[in-house]
Amino acid sequence: MPAADALAASAAWKGASQEAVAFISLVMRNNPHKPIEAILARSDVQSALTWPFNNAADKSKAIIENAFAGLDSPFKDSVKNDLDGMAAEAPVKITSEMKDPERQTLAQRLLAWLQKLERRAAMAVDVGTTRAITELNALQAHSGFKMWVAQIEELNTCSHCRGLHGMVIPWDQEFPYNTGQRNLGVYGDLQGPPRHPNCRCHLVFIPA
Ligand SMILES: [Zn+2]
Repeated sequence: MPAADALAASAAWKGASQEAVAFISLVMRNNPHKPIEAILARSDVQSALTWPFNNAADKSKAIIENAFAGLDSPFKDSVKNDLDGMAAEAPVKITSEMKDPERQTLAQRLLAWLQKLERRAAMAVDVGTTRAITELNALQAHSGFKMWVAQIEELNTCSHCRGLHGMVIPWDQEFPYNTGQRNLGVYGDLQGPPRHPNCRCHLVFIPA
C-alpha cells in the first residue's frame, strides 16, 4: 500500500522536525545572550539536530527495504540514498538558519522548509514502494508483454500517463519518456509506473 507507506514516512519526518525545532527553541530560550556559534558548537545540540532525521530516514528506508522484499534493485538503493541525503540536509539547513541575525522567527521559517522536507520524503517512499510493485510483478511474469493502464476516466490524469495508456511492450523493456506535454524528469529506466509521484497507473501483464 504505497499511500499508507507515504503517510508513515511523512509522520516520521514530521516527528523529527518537531523534535529538532523544539530542542533548538529551548536551547535558545535558555541561552538568550550566548553567541549562536557557541550554542551550535555544543555536541548535544549537534546530535539533537542530527539524530531525529537519521531516525526518520531509517524508518523510511525500512519501508523501502520491506517493499522490495529482498529484490536486488538499483532503484531501491537510489531511493535510500535520497533519504539519507535528506537526513543530512536538515541539520545543515537548521544550523545555517540559526546563524541568521533575525532568528526570532526561526521556528516559523524552518517550519515551512521542514514541511517541504516531509513531503519530499513521503514522495520518495511513495515512488519507491510503487516501483517495488512494478519490479516484483515484472519478475513474476518474466515473459510476454506488459500494458500500461492509466486512470483515463479521471480528469486530473496527466498527459504523460494518458499518452502511455494502452501501450503494450515486451515485459522487460522501457516505456518511452516523451508522451507528455512538457519535460518531466523520470526515475530512470521506466519499466512501469510510477511515472511521477502520486501516479495511479498500473501494469497488466499479458502472457506470450
Ligand atoms: Zn500515472
